[in-house]
Amino acid sequence: MNISLVAHNGKKDALIRWADTHRKTLEQHKLFATGTTGTKLEEIGFSITKFHSGPLGGDQEIGAKIVEGMMDMLFFFVDPLTAQPHEPDISALRRICDVKQIPIATNEATANILITSIKEPIDAV
Ligand code: PGA
Repeated sequence: MNISLVAHNGKKDALIRWADTHRKTLEQHKLFATGTTGTKLEEIGFSITKFHSGPLGGDQEIGAKIVEGMMDMLFFFVDPLTAQPHEPDISALRRICDVKQIPIATNEATANILITSIKEPIDAV
């Protein structure tokens, strides 16, 4: 699957920790991220395709991939307590997920459930 990871600045540490915890599952997929989130994921060893930074259009680039049917899942750790300069892009990204029926987790609790749904079953030997 093609999976995108995005986190607002106030949630980047949480996303990095979460991704590290779920590394085994995530690394079985093709990973994409907005610029700064992607750089932080690379720093902890993930191989990832980076788009532009969110405020510079990265959210829209992910949205375009969703429109094209090229993205299967989105983990977007949103900071609801801080105003984001690119809020229209964020709203558009959420909307296109609903239009295209793409699963999107906007907080860690939902992310935990979503990641469980794509975990390989452990072989009972
Ligand atoms: P960033 O973008 O990963 O480049 O910070 C995320 C966002 O704020 O949409």
